[in-house]
Amino acid sequence: MKQRISDKDKLKIGIVGFGTFGQFLAKRLVARGHQVIATSRSPYEDIARKIGVDYFQDLDDFCEEHPEVVLLASSILSTEKVLRSLPVQRLKRNTLFVDVLSVKVFPKQLLLRELPPEVDILCSHPMFGPDSGKGSWAGLNFMYEKVRIGADPKRERRVETFLKFFRDEGCNMVEMTCEEHDRQAASTQFITHTVGRVLGTMQLRSTEINTKGFEALLNLVNNTNNDSFELYYGLFLYNQNATDELERLEQAFDTVKKQLFGRLHDIARQQLFPTVDTAGNGNGALAPAPQALPPPREPLALPSRSRDGVESGSAAPTEAYSASKTIDV
Ligand code: NAP
Repeated sequence: MKQRISDKDKLKIGIVGFGTFGQFLAKRLVARGHQVIATSRSPYEDIARKIGVDYFQDLDDFCEEHPEVVLLASSILSTEKVLRSLPVQRLKRNTLFVDVLSVKVFPKQLLLRELPPEVDILCSHPMFGPDSGKGSWAGLNFMYEKVRIGADPKRERRVETFLKFFRDEGCNMVEMTCEEHDRQAASTQFITHTVGRVLGTMQLRSTEINTKGFEALLNLVNNTNNDSFELYYGLFLYNQNATDELERLEQAFDTVKKQLFGRLHDIARQQLFPTVDTAGNGNGALAPAPQALPPPREPLALPSRSRDGVESGSAAPTEAYSASKTIDV
Protein backbone atom coordinates (compact mmCIF):
# COMPACT_ATOMS: atom_id res chain seq x y z
CA MET A 1 0.00 0.00 0.00
CA LYS A 2 1.31 3.41 -0.94
CA GLN A 3 1.52 5.92 1.87
CA ARG A 4 -1.33 8.42 1.50
CA ILE A 5 -0.67 12.10 1.88
CA SER A 6 -1.64 14.24 4.85
CA ASP A 7 -4.62 16.59 4.54
CA LYS A 8 -2.42 19.69 4.16
CA ASP A 9 -0.77 18.14 1.08
CA LYS A 10 -4.08 17.24 -0.58
CA LEU A 11 -4.79 19.06 -3.83
CA LYS A 12 -7.93 19.31 -5.93
CA ILE A 13 -6.60 18.56 -9.42
CA GLY A 14 -8.64 18.98 -12.61
CA ILE A 15 -7.37 16.96 -15.56
CA VAL A 16 -8.18 18.30 -19.03
CA GLY A 17 -7.78 15.48 -21.57
CA PHE A 18 -8.73 12.16 -20.04
CA GLY A 19 -7.11 9.86 -22.63
CA THR A 20 -4.40 7.27 -21.98
CA PHE A 21 -2.00 9.57 -20.16
CA GLY A 22 -4.62 11.59 -18.28
CA GLN A 23 -6.08 8.37 -16.85
CA PHE A 24 -2.62 6.99 -16.10
CA LEU A 25 -1.79 10.07 -13.96
CA ALA A 26 -5.27 10.16 -12.39
CA LYS A 27 -4.92 6.63 -11.00
CA ARG A 28 -1.70 7.49 -9.15
CA LEU A 29 -2.97 10.86 -7.93
CA VAL A 30 -6.12 9.24 -6.52
CA ALA A 31 -4.09 6.41 -4.97
CA ARG A 32 -2.00 9.03 -3.16
CA GLY A 33 -5.13 10.70 -1.79
CA HIS A 34 -5.52 13.75 -4.05
CA GLN A 35 -9.01 14.77 -5.17
CA VAL A 36 -9.21 14.42 -8.95
CA ILE A 37 -11.84 15.71 -11.38
CA ALA A 38 -11.60 15.45 -15.16
CA THR A 39 -13.01 16.64 -18.45
CA SER A 40 -12.40 15.54 -22.03
CA ARG A 41 -13.89 15.58 -25.49
CA SER A 42 -15.19 11.99 -25.21
CA PRO A 43 -17.56 10.60 -22.57
CA TYR A 44 -15.46 8.91 -19.87
CA GLU A 45 -17.98 8.79 -16.98
CA ASP A 46 -17.74 5.03 -16.42
CA ILE A 47 -13.95 4.84 -16.56
CA ALA A 48 -13.65 7.89 -14.30
CA ARG A 49 -16.05 6.42 -11.71
CA LYS A 50 -14.00 3.21 -11.55
CA ILE A 51 -10.81 5.19 -10.95
CA GLY A 52 -12.42 7.41 -8.32
CA VAL A 53 -12.51 10.56 -10.45
CA ASP A 54 -15.48 12.97 -10.81
CA TYR A 55 -16.10 13.49 -14.51
CA PHE A 56 -17.59 16.64 -16.09
CA GLN A 57 -18.20 16.56 -19.81
CA ASP A 58 -19.30 20.19 -19.68
CA LEU A 59 -16.38 22.64 -19.49
CA ASP A 60 -18.33 25.24 -17.48
CA ASP A 61 -19.27 22.62 -14.89
CA PHE A 62 -15.65 21.48 -14.75
CA CYS A 63 -14.28 24.99 -14.16
CA GLU A 64 -16.98 25.85 -11.62
CA GLU A 65 -15.64 22.98 -9.49
CA HIS A 66 -12.65 25.30 -8.89
CA PRO A 67 -9.75 22.87 -9.06
CA GLU A 68 -6.59 24.34 -7.49
CA VAL A 69 -4.52 22.78 -10.26
CA VAL A 70 -5.59 22.41 -13.90
CA LEU A 71 -3.51 19.69 -15.52
CA LEU A 72 -3.46 19.78 -19.32
CA ALA A 73 -3.07 16.26 -20.74
CA SER A 74 -4.62 16.69 -24.16
CA SER A 75 -2.78 15.72 -27.34
CA ILE A 76 -0.07 18.14 -28.47
CA LEU A 77 -1.96 18.92 -31.65
CA SER A 78 -5.26 19.72 -29.90
CA THR A 79 -3.98 21.63 -26.86
CA GLU A 80 -4.25 25.10 -28.38
CA LYS A 81 -7.88 24.49 -29.33
CA VAL A 82 -8.65 22.81 -25.99
CA LEU A 83 -7.12 25.68 -23.98
CA ARG A 84 -9.03 28.33 -25.92
CA SER A 85 -12.31 26.49 -25.36
CA LEU A 86 -11.78 26.41 -21.57
CA PRO A 87 -13.85 29.10 -19.75
CA VAL A 88 -10.87 30.23 -17.66
CA GLN A 89 -12.93 33.10 -16.19
CA ARG A 90 -14.93 30.50 -14.24
CA LEU A 91 -11.82 29.21 -12.46
CA LYS A 92 -10.34 30.79 -9.35
CA ARG A 93 -8.13 33.69 -10.36
CA ASN A 94 -4.95 32.20 -8.94
CA THR A 95 -5.30 28.68 -10.37
CA LEU A 96 -2.09 26.75 -11.14
CA PHE A 97 -1.92 25.48 -14.74
CA VAL A 98 0.36 22.52 -15.38
CA ASP A 99 0.94 20.91 -18.74
CA VAL A 100 2.46 17.46 -19.34
CA LEU A 101 2.95 17.74 -23.09
CA SER A 102 5.91 15.85 -24.54
CA VAL A 103 7.22 19.02 -26.22
CA LYS A 104 7.82 22.07 -24.08
CA VAL A 105 8.52 25.35 -25.88
CA PHE A 106 5.16 25.22 -27.62
CA PRO A 107 2.98 24.94 -24.45
CA LYS A 108 5.19 27.44 -22.59
CA GLN A 109 4.59 30.08 -25.27
CA LEU A 110 0.93 29.11 -25.59
CA LEU A 111 0.17 29.30 -21.85
CA LEU A 112 2.03 32.59 -21.43
CA ARG A 113 0.13 34.03 -24.36
CA GLU A 114 -3.36 32.74 -23.60
CA LEU A 115 -3.69 32.76 -19.81
CA PRO A 116 -4.41 35.83 -17.69
CA PRO A 117 -1.37 37.12 -15.77
CA GLU A 118 -2.71 36.11 -12.34
CA VAL A 119 -2.65 32.40 -13.27
CA ASP A 120 0.43 30.35 -12.25
CA ILE A 121 2.18 28.21 -14.89
CA LEU A 122 4.27 25.08 -14.46
CA CYS A 123 5.46 23.30 -17.61
CA SER A 124 6.41 19.68 -17.05
CA HIS A 125 7.20 16.47 -18.83
CA PRO A 126 7.04 13.11 -17.08
CA MET A 127 9.59 11.23 -19.23
CA PHE A 128 7.61 7.99 -19.01
CA GLY A 129 4.20 6.64 -19.89
CA PRO A 130 1.76 3.83 -19.15
CA ASP A 131 4.21 1.22 -20.50
CA SER A 132 7.55 2.41 -19.17
CA GLY A 133 5.91 3.58 -15.91
CA LYS A 134 3.64 0.58 -15.43
CA GLY A 135 5.18 -0.36 -12.09
CA SER A 136 7.30 1.86 -9.89
CA TRP A 137 8.25 5.35 -11.04
CA ALA A 138 11.46 5.19 -9.03
CA GLY A 139 14.36 6.70 -10.95
CA LEU A 140 12.20 7.85 -13.89
CA ASN A 141 12.90 11.41 -14.98
CA PHE A 142 10.41 14.20 -14.38
CA MET A 143 11.36 17.47 -16.14
CA TYR A 144 9.81 20.77 -15.08
CA GLU A 145 10.13 24.54 -15.40
CA LYS A 146 8.38 26.95 -13.03
CA VAL A 147 7.44 29.34 -15.81
CA ARG A 148 5.40 31.80 -13.74
CA ILE A 149 4.61 31.39 -10.06
CA GLY A 150 3.19 34.34 -8.11
CA ALA A 151 5.24 35.70 -5.19
CA ASP A 152 2.64 34.63 -2.61
CA PRO A 153 4.13 31.87 -0.34
CA LYS A 154 0.85 29.94 -0.66
CA ARG A 155 1.37 29.69 -4.42
CA GLU A 156 4.95 28.56 -3.96
CA ARG A 157 3.76 25.93 -1.47
CA ARG A 158 1.09 24.71 -3.90
CA VAL A 159 3.54 24.16 -6.74
CA GLU A 160 5.93 22.39 -4.35
CA THR A 161 3.07 20.17 -3.13
CA PHE A 162 2.27 19.25 -6.72
CA LEU A 163 5.93 18.46 -7.48
CA LYS A 164 6.15 16.49 -4.23
CA PHE A 165 3.69 13.97 -5.66
CA PHE A 166 6.22 12.97 -8.34
CA ARG A 167 9.13 13.21 -5.91
CA ASP A 168 7.32 10.86 -3.49
CA GLU A 169 6.72 8.40 -6.35
CA GLY A 170 10.51 8.22 -6.64
CA CYS A 171 10.92 10.29 -9.82
CA ASN A 172 14.25 11.90 -10.58
CA MET A 173 13.25 15.59 -10.57
CA VAL A 174 15.01 17.60 -13.31
CA GLU A 175 14.49 21.38 -13.31
CA MET A 176 15.31 22.66 -16.79
CA THR A 177 14.09 25.29 -19.23
CA CYS A 178 11.59 24.23 -21.86
CA GLU A 179 14.04 25.33 -24.57
CA GLU A 180 16.76 23.05 -23.23
CA HIS A 181 14.23 20.20 -22.90
CA ASP A 182 13.28 20.43 -26.58
CA ARG A 183 16.90 20.55 -27.66
CA GLN A 184 17.75 17.43 -25.67
CA ALA A 185 14.47 15.60 -26.35
CA ALA A 186 14.85 15.83 -30.14
CA SER A 187 17.98 13.69 -30.02
CA THR A 188 16.67 11.32 -27.32
CA GLN A 189 12.90 10.94 -27.19
CA PHE A 190 12.14 11.73 -30.85
CA ILE A 191 14.89 9.43 -32.12
CA THR A 192 13.74 6.68 -29.71
CA HIS A 193 10.17 6.95 -31.01
CA THR A 194 11.32 7.08 -34.65
CA VAL A 195 13.51 3.99 -34.36
CA GLY A 196 10.74 2.21 -32.40
CA ARG A 197 8.23 3.04 -35.15
CA VAL A 198 10.60 1.98 -37.95
CA LEU A 199 11.25 -1.36 -36.24
CA GLY A 200 7.51 -1.70 -35.52
CA THR A 201 6.83 -1.25 -39.23
CA MET A 202 9.26 -4.12 -39.88
CA GLN A 203 7.03 -6.31 -37.67
CA LEU A 204 9.91 -7.88 -35.75
CA ARG A 205 9.00 -11.23 -34.19
CA SER A 206 10.35 -12.85 -31.06
CA THR A 207 12.35 -16.03 -31.78
CA GLU A 208 13.60 -19.02 -29.77
CA ILE A 209 17.14 -17.61 -29.87
CA ASN A 210 16.61 -13.96 -28.91
CA THR A 211 19.71 -12.12 -27.75
CA LYS A 212 19.53 -9.50 -24.99
CA GLY A 213 20.04 -6.83 -27.63
CA PHE A 214 17.12 -8.10 -29.68
CA GLU A 215 14.92 -8.27 -26.55
CA ALA A 216 15.80 -4.61 -25.96
CA LEU A 217 14.64 -3.78 -29.51
CA LEU A 218 11.35 -5.66 -28.97
CA ASN A 219 10.84 -3.67 -25.76
CA LEU A 220 11.49 -0.46 -27.64
CA VAL A 221 8.85 -1.40 -30.22
CA ASN A 222 6.35 -2.15 -27.42
CA ASN A 223 7.11 1.04 -25.52
CA THR A 224 6.74 3.32 -28.52
CA ASN A 225 4.10 1.76 -30.77
CA ASN A 226 1.41 1.76 -28.06
CA ASP A 227 1.48 5.56 -28.03
CA SER A 228 -0.92 7.22 -30.45
CA PHE A 229 0.47 8.29 -33.82
CA GLU A 230 -0.88 11.76 -32.96
CA LEU A 231 1.54 11.90 -30.04
CA TYR A 232 4.48 10.92 -32.23
CA TYR A 233 3.43 13.39 -34.92
CA GLY A 234 3.24 16.10 -32.25
CA LEU A 235 6.85 15.37 -31.24
CA PHE A 236 7.84 15.99 -34.84
CA LEU A 237 5.62 18.93 -35.67
CA TYR A 238 6.03 20.95 -32.48
CA ASN A 239 9.74 20.46 -31.84
CA GLN A 240 11.72 22.38 -34.43
CA ASN A 241 14.85 20.39 -33.61
CA ALA A 242 13.13 17.17 -34.72
CA THR A 243 13.58 17.80 -38.45
CA ASP A 244 17.36 18.13 -38.03
CA GLU A 245 17.50 14.95 -35.97
CA LEU A 246 15.49 13.03 -38.56
CA GLU A 247 17.94 14.18 -41.24
CA ARG A 248 20.89 13.13 -39.08
CA LEU A 249 19.33 9.69 -38.56
CA GLU A 250 18.82 9.30 -42.31
CA GLN A 251 22.41 10.39 -43.01
CA ALA A 252 23.71 7.97 -40.40
CA PHE A 253 21.72 5.12 -41.97
CA ASP A 254 23.09 5.98 -45.41
CA THR A 255 26.64 6.18 -44.04
CA VAL A 256 26.42 2.72 -42.49
CA LYS A 257 24.82 1.30 -45.65
CA LYS A 258 27.57 2.85 -47.80
CA GLN A 259 30.17 1.31 -45.52
CA LEU A 260 28.68 -2.16 -46.08
CA PHE A 261 28.15 -1.82 -49.80
CA GLY A 262 31.49 -0.06 -50.28
CA ARG A 263 33.34 -3.07 -48.90
CA LEU A 264 31.18 -5.47 -50.92
CA HIS A 265 31.85 -3.55 -54.11
CA ASP A 266 35.59 -3.49 -53.45
CA ILE A 267 35.63 -7.26 -53.06
CA ALA A 268 33.50 -7.76 -56.18
CA ARG A 269 35.78 -5.45 -58.19
CA GLN A 270 38.86 -7.31 -56.99
CA GLN A 271 37.33 -10.56 -58.20
CA LEU A 272 36.27 -9.13 -61.56
CA PHE A 273 39.50 -7.19 -62.20
CA PRO A 274 42.17 -8.89 -60.03
CA THR A 275 45.07 -6.82 -61.44
CA VAL A 276 43.44 -3.44 -60.99
CA ASP A 277 43.76 -1.81 -57.59
CA THR A 278 40.38 -0.08 -57.71
CA ALA A 279 40.51 1.47 -54.30
CA GLY A 280 44.14 2.39 -54.65
CA ASN A 281 45.09 0.71 -51.38
CA GLY A 282 45.72 -2.93 -52.22
CA ASN A 283 43.83 -6.20 -52.33
CA GLY A 284 40.71 -6.55 -50.19
CA ALA A 285 40.74 -2.83 -49.63
CA LEU A 286 38.31 -1.60 -47.04
CA ALA A 287 35.73 1.02 -47.78
CA PRO A 288 36.76 4.42 -46.49
CA ALA A 289 35.92 5.01 -42.85
CA PRO A 290 32.53 6.65 -42.41
CA GLN A 291 32.67 10.36 -41.93
CA ALA A 292 31.44 11.67 -38.63
CA LEU A 293 28.03 13.33 -38.85
CA PRO A 294 27.87 17.04 -38.28
CA PRO A 295 26.83 17.98 -34.74
CA PRO A 296 23.18 18.93 -34.17
CA ARG A 297 22.42 22.46 -35.22
CA GLU A 298 21.51 25.16 -32.73
CA PRO A 299 17.74 25.10 -32.07
CA LEU A 300 15.58 27.63 -33.84
CA ALA A 301 13.13 29.81 -31.97
CA LEU A 302 9.54 28.75 -32.55
CA PRO A 303 7.64 31.38 -34.48
CA SER A 304 4.83 32.62 -32.28
CA ARG A 305 1.35 32.56 -33.65
CA SER A 306 -1.33 35.04 -32.93
CA ARG A 307 -4.97 34.04 -32.57
CA ASP A 308 -5.63 34.41 -36.28
CA GLY A 309 -2.72 32.10 -37.12
CA VAL A 310 -0.35 34.79 -38.41
CA GLU A 311 3.24 34.04 -37.49
CA SER A 312 5.73 36.52 -36.15
CA GLY A 313 9.35 36.26 -34.97
CA SER A 314 12.69 36.37 -36.70
CA ALA A 315 13.15 32.66 -37.40
CA ALA A 316 11.88 31.40 -40.74
CA PRO A 317 9.29 28.64 -40.19
CA THR A 318 10.53 25.16 -41.05
CA GLU A 319 8.66 23.07 -43.59
CA ALA A 320 7.31 20.96 -40.72
CA TYR A 321 5.98 23.93 -38.85
CA SER A 322 4.43 25.44 -41.96
CA ALA A 323 2.60 22.16 -42.48
CA SER A 324 0.84 22.66 -39.15
CA LYS A 325 -1.12 25.56 -40.61
CA THR A 326 -2.98 23.21 -42.88
CA ILE A 327 -3.92 20.78 -40.11
CA ASP A 328 -7.24 21.17 -38.38
CA VAL A 329 -6.52 20.60 -34.68
P1 NAP B 1 -2.58 11.71 -27.13
O1 NAP B 1 -3.12 11.06 -28.35
O2 NAP B 1 -1.38 12.56 -27.26
O3 NAP B 1 -3.76 12.59 -26.44
C1 NAP B 1 -5.01 12.05 -26.19
C2 NAP B 1 -5.85 13.09 -25.51
O4 NAP B 1 -6.03 14.25 -26.35
C3 NAP B 1 -7.23 12.60 -25.17
O5 NAP B 1 -7.59 13.11 -23.91
C4 NAP B 1 -8.11 13.19 -26.26
O6 NAP B 1 -9.43 13.43 -25.85
C5 NAP B 1 -7.43 14.51 -26.50
N1 NAP B 1 -7.69 14.99 -27.85
C6 NAP B 1 -7.15 14.55 -29.00
N2 NAP B 1 -7.63 15.25 -30.07
C7 NAP B 1 -8.50 16.16 -29.56
C8 NAP B 1 -9.29 17.19 -30.14
N3 NAP B 1 -9.30 17.41 -31.45
N4 NAP B 1 -10.05 17.94 -29.31
C9 NAP B 1 -10.05 17.73 -27.99
N5 NAP B 1 -9.30 16.76 -27.37
C10 NAP B 1 -8.53 16.00 -28.15
O7 NAP B 1 -2.32 10.53 -26.09
P2 NAP B 1 -1.87 10.50 -24.58
O8 NAP B 1 -0.88 9.41 -24.50
O9 NAP B 1 -3.07 10.42 -23.71
O10 NAP B 1 -1.07 11.87 -24.30
C11 NAP B 1 -1.71 12.98 -23.70
C12 NAP B 1 -0.66 14.07 -23.45
O11 NAP B 1 0.32 13.60 -22.52
C13 NAP B 1 0.09 14.47 -24.73
O12 NAP B 1 0.29 15.85 -24.74
C14 NAP B 1 1.42 13.75 -24.59
O13 NAP B 1 2.46 14.42 -25.26
C15 NAP B 1 1.62 13.76 -23.06
N6 NAP B 1 2.46 12.66 -22.55
C16 NAP B 1 2.16 11.39 -22.91
C17 NAP B 1 2.97 10.37 -22.45
C18 NAP B 1 2.70 8.93 -22.84
O14 NAP B 1 3.56 8.09 -22.61
N7 NAP B 1 1.56 8.60 -23.40
C19 NAP B 1 4.06 10.65 -21.62
C20 NAP B 1 4.30 11.96 -21.23
C21 NAP B 1 3.49 12.97 -21.71
P3 NAP B 1 -10.53 12.27 -25.86
O15 NAP B 1 -9.88 11.07 -25.28
O16 NAP B 1 -11.61 12.83 -25.01
O17 NAP B 1 -10.95 12.05 -27.27
